[in-house]
Amino acid sequence: MTFHCKNYDIENSKCKRLSGECVPARKGCVLEGRIAVSEELAEKIQRIDEETLQGSRKKSNK
Ligand code: SF4
Repeated sequence: MTFHCKNYDIENSKCKRLSGECVPARKGCVLEGRIAVSEELAEKIQRIDEETLQGSRKKSNK
């Protein structure tokens, strides 16, 4: 199966919707909660969520 997302910026290899790396099923992705992800991808998504959370905490502490 192949999938092409209209939010994927081919020239810059980034997600236009999330202004960052394309990681299918991450928070805010059109596939979030709609597909089963591998253990490896789930770990990557968790890492991104934690980094995002840490980033927002840093901003709110300023
Ligand atoms: S992260 Fe999701 S919404 Fe963004 S380009 Fe990738 S598949 Fe599309």
